[in-house]
Amino acid sequence: MYIKQLEVDNFKSFANKVDIPLLKGFTTISGPNGSGKSNIIDSVLFALGLSTSRTLRAEKLFHLISTHTKRNEAFVKVTFGETGEEHEGKDFTVGRKIRKSSQGYISIYYLNDKVVTLSEIHALLEKYNITPNSYNVMMQGDVTSITNCSSNERRKIIDEIAGIADFDRRIDQATQELETVEK
Ligand code: ATP
Ligand code: MG
Repeated sequence: MYIKQLEVDNFKSFANKVDIPLLKGFTTISGPNGSGKSNIIDSVLFALGLSTSRTLRAEKLFHLISTHTKRNEAFVKVTFGETGEEHEGKDFTVGRKIRKSSQGYISIYYLNDKVVTLSEIHALLEKYNITPNSYNVMMQGDVTSITNCSSNERRKIIDEIAGIADFDRRIDQATQELETVEK
């Protein structure tokens, strides 16, 4: 499975709706500093609900709405393509919209253009080993911080990648539940 295309509308520096095609294999996006390259990866994390607003390089979620327009919503849609002939035509899309409101913002997730919950998106992505805690996305500076971090921190990262950390979390949860039952 691979990301085939991104549709980015009124998100950060992308004021106008743009379709960004990603070719099979390796795609490089180049441009001057501050031209919006990292905003593209932010748009993927945003649409897939994979991170908090902090790792998205925005203090508040509604800071993701482009300041170049007066529209008060941002939308991103990620099209996934399956690899292999047997999967021909089995593309699916995951999208998210945020709209600024008087109480803050509202966030709506879409699977194939139908409204779904974030848990439904996460359940689907988990089948492809894409989870909020895993290292599916390498952000700018990640490589440097991994080489510079302590051996304990590096061990945590390896545990996450290997999937062990997930089991550790489940063990912790089960232990807590047992303690509650004991009480
Ligand atoms: P570098 O090469 O330095 O890593 P980059 O191409 O990755 O740069 P980005 O970090 O993706 O650049 O984009 C930064 C730009 O995005 C800044 O010019 C900033 O003003 C703009 N930007 C961020 N949030 C918004 C927003 N909500 N509305 C409009 N523009 C925004
Ligand atoms: Mg960048």
